[in-house]
Amino acid sequence: MARVAFIGLGNMGGGMAANLAKNGHDVRAFDLSEDALARAKEAGCLAVENAAEACDGAEAVVTMLPAGRHVEDVYTGAIFDAAPKSAILIDCSTIDVETARRVAEAASQKGLTMVDAPVSGGIAAAAGGTLTFMVGGAEDAFRRAEPFLADMGKAVIHAGGAGAGQAAKICNNMLLGATMVATGEAFVLAQKLGLDLQRFYDIASVSSGQSWSMTSYCPVPGVGPETPADRDWQGGFAAALMLKDLRLAMDAAASVGADTPMGARAAELYQRFSDNGEAGRDFSGIIRMLGLADGD
Ligand code: NAD
Repeated sequence: MARVAFIGLGNMGGGMAANLAKNGHDVRAFDLSEDALARAKEAGCLAVENAAEACDGAEAVVTMLPAGRHVEDVYTGAIFDAAPKSAILIDCSTIDVETARRVAEAASQKGLTMVDAPVSGGIAAAAGGTLTFMVGGAEDAFRRAEPFLADMGKAVIHAGGAGAGQAAKICNNMLLGATMVATGEAFVLAQKLGLDLQRFYDIASVSSGQSWSMTSYCPVPGVGPETPADRDWQGGFAAALMLKDLRLAMDAAASVGADTPMGARAAELYQRFSDNGEAGRDFSGIIRMLGLADGD
């Protein structure tokens, strides 16, 4: 088992660090939040004073931070100087492709090896060790990161070179945002046309309109498997995080001149949903803004 530095012990990182500790690693954990540090300690990690101390003697450094600027700050401000040259650096945050590539290049200039490894799966998957990791970096870097990621997830997939993990993540989530909106509006139209929503689900879930948004994460309460819709659209994946990912996708699309009209529309709708005070609501709750009537 290895010594692992873990920086960023929030909703996601807290569970991930706990799983590394549970799998026998010597986890040195750091977060700016005292509460997060205390939880990591309870979960079997050693809470340390700063990011540099966490990196001391580490074989792997894992970060799970809010956005690109935090990642750049923590790597350039602490990790690059404190991590042993032999350590594999693994950033699991969801950030823009450009920053991911710039930080990986800076790591390489310092003689360090880094991968981007954003995740699919929410807080429950982080706690349960069932995340999917999509990894960007050289083949040998991927091989070195894989065993650590496997201790925190159910699938670890090599997406390509530096930044490819982030590219895969935002393309996937752009597709998810668009299919959730499309699924919601199909249910609302079905309702307005007088269809029973369970009956529509029974049909669409085995027809060509089927998608993950329909059959694994149905936005209609009482229809399909149990989902956040059955808990008043609470918990799950917050609309604010979907909006963050859609914005990253739109920025990436603009940077390469890709035409993404459905992604752009989904971003506008999630912006409106968030502006309506629903940023903390599960993203499938957008079906209410689209006009789902109560009682079906
Ligand atoms: P969070 O805000 O709960 O956690 C981030 C943590 O980073 C906080 O505890 C914060 O104190 C800490 N932090 C910030 N700057 C720091 C610094 N300089 N040094 C040390 N710690 C610092 O966020 P989260 O929900 O855990 O998400 C983390 C990342 O995972 C984000 O990029 C998010 O987009 C992505 N993600 C989240 C989910 C989800 O469902 N929450 C799902 C998939 C991906």
